[in-house]
Amino acid sequence: MENCLFCKIVNGVIPSSKIYEDDEFLVFHDIQPAAPVHAVMIPKKHIASMNEAQGDDFVLIGKLHQVAQTTAEQLGIAETGYRLINNCGPDGGQTVFHLHFHLLGGAKLGALTG
Ligand code: 5GP
Ligand code: ZN
Repeated sequence: MENCLFCKIVNGVIPSSKIYEDDEFLVFHDIQPAAPVHAVMIPKKHIASMNEAQGDDFVLIGKLHQVAQTTAEQLGIAETGYRLINNCGPDGGQTVFHLHFHLLGGAKLGALTG
């Protein structure tokens, strides 16, 4: 997708601080961290949001959770705990319309609020 920020990161047009990469996924540090550890986890395939996921996309999303588990281990937050968040749509606070999960940790996170 030409105008998608995260597709540009996947294609190397925009640089990122990579944490993990394989054929299907990319994990990189968020440019504006909301916690001491804040990684953005994406499938390389462009899926605009959870609302557009279909069919085998859900296999990818499942695998992305496995990558979250190993990334948390790699970043040293597995033991202390972490939060995995997907923002969907305007009310969910989604600003980049390429499906992604936030992996947050490294401190005791506040309660979820609406
Ligand atoms: P959303 O609000 O869509 O759930 O999350 C988008 C995230 O992408 C935000 O946390 C934002 O800080 C991050 N972000 C936006 N632009 C860039 C960028 O150019 N590089 C990196 N690494 N993160 C970005
Ligand atoms: Zn994209």
